[in-house]
Amino acid sequence: MNFNLATAELFVPDGLPSDEALARTTHLCFAAHQDDIEIMAANPIITCFQQKDLWFTGIVVTDGRGSPRDDLYKDYTDEDMRVVRFKEQKKAAVIGEYAAQILLDYPSKLIKDGSNKLAVADIVKILKATHPQIVYTHNLADKHDTHVGVALKVIEAVRQLPTDEQPQRLYGCEVWRDLDWMIDDDKVPFDCTTHENLQMALVGVFDSQICGGKRYDLATMGRRKAHATYFASHGTDATTGLSFGMDLTPLMTNSSQDVGAFVQAYIQHFAQEVADRVGKLR
Ligand SMILES: [Zn+2]
Repeated sequence: MNFNLATAELFVPDGLPSDEALARTTHLCFAAHQDDIEIMAANPIITCFQQKDLWFTGIVVTDGRGSPRDDLYKDYTDEDMRVVRFKEQKKAAVIGEYAAQILLDYPSKLIKDGSNKLAVADIVKILKATHPQIVYTHNLADKHDTHVGVALKVIEAVRQLPTDEQPQRLYGCEVWRDLDWMIDDDKVPFDCTTHENLQMALVGVFDSQICGGKRYDLATMGRRKAHATYFASHGTDATTGLSFGMDLTPLMTNSSQDVGAFVQAYIQHFAQEVADRVGKLR
């Protein structure tokens, strides 16, 4: 399979020919950076783990060249960092038994450019090769420009598919900003209770980022535990790990729906809930 950039890579952990590897995909995730998949899509990775008929494929859109670096990696050049981050992402694909891992290798600035459609074409090609049931990407209220850039390109791509080739659901997931603020009726909860050991391995393998001074491994596992306990104020915990999604499916099925207005509606639901409670109790 060829992508727009000749340096893009497709890695199949179990060595199946790439077209077969991609065709078995049921759960597909488009992320901006190496490690975002493992932070935001633990539920589908675990759901597909060791299943014969469920397969997870991950796509990292950017190249990792601009990554922060410290400790062991402090003198690494941008190219060295790209190599390390590609290697780490492939390790995660092995641990999580992904159907395939694609690294599209785009510089972040192209992803932050709404008028640049190169990545959209690659995303359409991947969607056609995989026909997933569910697609995961970043949520539209994320505070990292490149994350939102990826989400917008994924939305653009799924809208280009014929209706009968579209996935069943499209979800925006948590990395740089969690979705605890959304009202409970709007949140899509993803159970991350099982295989905690694998979840820790998946976020722990990105040594270059953790050594860079950010404990994403501890923070990610902690966020899942916090969500599980704080999701419902009454009753005992139904899960011991939870992450939240923003349902973006209506943006796919109704291509005239304005993306900005769509995410504003979720913010309005939150604002209304806060106003209603204060109004009721004061
Ligand atoms: Zn990221």
